[in-house]
This record gives sequence, structure tokens and C-alpha cells, in this order.
Amino acid sequence: MYDIDFFKNSNNLKDKITKGFLKNSDYENINVELETLRKKFPYIYNIETTNYCNMKCVMCPRTMFMTRKNIWIDDKLFEKLISDVKIHDQKNLEYFWNWIENDYKQPLNEVSENGFYFSVISRHLVLHGFGEPFLDKKLIQRIKLCTQKKIPTYFSCTPATMTVEKAEKAMEAGLGVLKFSLDAMDERKIKKITKVIWKSDVLLMRFLVKLIVKKKLV
Ligand code: SF4
Repeated sequence: MYDIDFFKNSNNLKDKITKGFLKNSDYENINVELETLRKKFPYIYNIETTNYCNMKCVMCPRTMFMTRKNIWIDDKLFEKLISDVKIHDQKNLEYFWNWIENDYKQPLNEVSENGFYFSVISRHLVLHGFGEPFLDKKLIQRIKLCTQKKIPTYFSCTPATMTVEKAEKAMEAGLGVLKFSLDAMDERKIKKITKVIWKSDVLLMRFLVKLIVKKKLV
């Protein structure tokens, strides 16, 4: 999760920069102001538990730029990181969300990247980076650890590695939000983008139907 106070308090400065009211020569003053606004301890926004991925999506920075070798996170490092995570208290979150809707003019329930960023990412630790979370064999264990520490979690994945069972286990472990990306409904187009063949629509429909039946949503 990100520093919601910094986002709110630096908004005027951001406006001045984006509207062209400040010049390159104001760089030092901008730096000083940002230093006064930021918290003096780091916020942990996301933890990449693995950088393995079974796709090579053409638009992905991982495909284009990643030169690191593929690994899974060290267990001790993961535990250390989650012990440093700062959770926003509910009162502060609601204050931030009110400001987002009333002053920043972004509806929180809008189905858009911004709506998602402000309503979901502001209150969850992100458990993905360069990589596919479900390729981490200890993912469920890690979600459980976060849940025990009352850290809300979210990650994005591809339906190609997700199964109903995996998704359910993640949710039962306490995962708050699961997002999956579908680049197209046509397998030929999917292959063009991800460089991997998988039955996108079949997998997705099977997932949704099984989940709906199991959870008695209809
Ligand atoms: S599935 Fe995600 S991480 Fe993997 S290559 Fe595609 S966009 Fe990148």
C-alpha cells in the first residue's frame, strides 16, 4: 500500500508542476518540499514473491527489460518485509477516500484503473511484481502469514496459471482481491500478445461457472 497522506499532501505541488507553473530552476525547492511531505520511513507498496512467468507478453517491461535471474523470494526476507508493512487505519483511509471523491474528483466505484488504484491499492499490500504469483509454490503460505498480521493482500495474475482450486485456496488464506488479466477473447490474438497458447475463453468460463456454483452465487 502507498503513503496516502503523501499522495494527498503533495497534490497541490503536483498540480503546479503538471500545469507548468514551475520551472527547471525550481528543482531544489520542489525537492525540499517533497522531503517535508514524505514520511521518514519507507512504505512497502508491493512484494514480488517470484519473478518467474510462463508468458512473454509483448507489452510487458519484464519481457523487454528484465535481466535478473528468476528466483523465489527468501522466506526470511519475506517475513522481515511484512513485519515492516504499515497498515492504514480505517479512519485515515476514509478521510483519504472522502478527499479523493470530493476534492480529487475521482469516483471510487468507477470501473477504471484510477478507481481500482484509489479504492483497492490504497488499502492492500500488492503481492506481484515482475512475475506470475501463482508460480510461487509458497504463495498460499505467504498470504496466510499476511492475514495473521492483519495485512490485506491483493495480486494480479493470468487466467492461464489460475484454477478454481488455486483461486479458492488463495481466498481462503485471506486474499482480499484477486485480479486477472485477459488480453483478448480470441486465442489467436492471445498467442500474438503472450506468445503462449492457452484456451482463454474456455478457462475463464470454467472458472467463473465453477466458482458461481460452488459459492451458490445464483
Ligand atoms: S503475464 Fe504478466 S508478468 Fe508475465 S509477461 Fe505477461 S504481463 Fe509480464
